[in-house]
Amino acid sequence: MTNKPKPLASLSLDLDNQWSYMKTHADPGWETFPSYLDLVVPRILSFLKERNLVITFFIVGQDAALGKNQAALKSLAEAGHEIGHHSFNHEPWLHLYSAEQVEAEIVRAEDAIINVTGQQPVGFRGPGFSVSQTVIDVLLQHGYQYDASTLPTYIGPLARLYYFMTARLNKEEKNQRNNLFGSIKDGFQPVGAYLWPKRGGSSDRQMVEIPVTTIPVFKIPFHVSYIIYLGSFSPVLALLYFRFALGMCRLTRTQPSLLLHPLDFLGRDDIKELAFFPAMNLTKDEKLKLVSEVLCLYADNFRIVNMQEHARQVRDSAWKA
Ligand SMILES: [Zn+2]
Repeated sequence: MTNKPKPLASLSLDLDNQWSYMKTHADPGWETFPSYLDLVVPRILSFLKERNLVITFFIVGQDAALGKNQAALKSLAEAGHEIGHHSFNHEPWLHLYSAEQVEAEIVRAEDAIINVTGQQPVGFRGPGFSVSQTVIDVLLQHGYQYDASTLPTYIGPLARLYYFMTARLNKEEKNQRNNLFGSIKDGFQPVGAYLWPKRGGSSDRQMVEIPVTTIPVFKIPFHVSYIIYLGSFSPVLALLYFRFALGMCRLTRTQPSLLLHPLDFLGRDDIKELAFFPAMNLTKDEKLKLVSEVLCLYADNFRIVNMQEHARQVRDSAWKA
């Protein structure tokens, strides 16, 4: 090993709960907000602690508002992780909301999150990668420093097709989910972090955008759930693919931002209700082994920070440039 410092990379986890998957999939029973947080949060925390990783958890306001989840959510902040904002209602059609609805959604979730974790979030990730200029404007007014809601890929429409095939949705529900996983134009967005273009006067603060990185040039995903999905066919190929993704990031000097989900830590032996989900044919142990190998490779290649630190570095280097 040389003494050359490793390039920067960030790591985050979207703490989507059982009900939010059921809701997007229009499965009955989500209205009682079934939760797996008591099961999965301690598992994730000990996994990260063993690997000395301090990351960002994007949490959903509705979960923070329910007493049954508060101990689990509080433990994230107490372990030193950054708490980000992942909307209140977790509706992937957030981009269809009016300005008033966006404002209410942001404030309601923020209040619930601060109340439980004691942390003021400074970063936002829209549910299902949904974001709009209205959302960005409201976040800026509320002092947010970064947004992390974009997934620059061309394959979003394919993922949506798969989703529609496995869910029973009526016409209105389909319309709401029309932009789920993004549209073709998302493929033209940059894969690395950047400053959101200014709109008003030159004194306006600019939002840092940290996309969920896709493979540079190819723009195909490599977030951890995707690697696990590939791993459900062949763990060896999945890791080769991940190595290739990291190699492309280094080659193009892209500072990646990698995304985790609770389902990366939950196997078919844990949650039967989510059997419709890709890669739920794997056991908990099979998944944990893959996640461990993926994060080990990530840490070998990059210096891993949380999202707030990543955003700060982006702002600093833009300022110097
Ligand atoms: Zn989510």
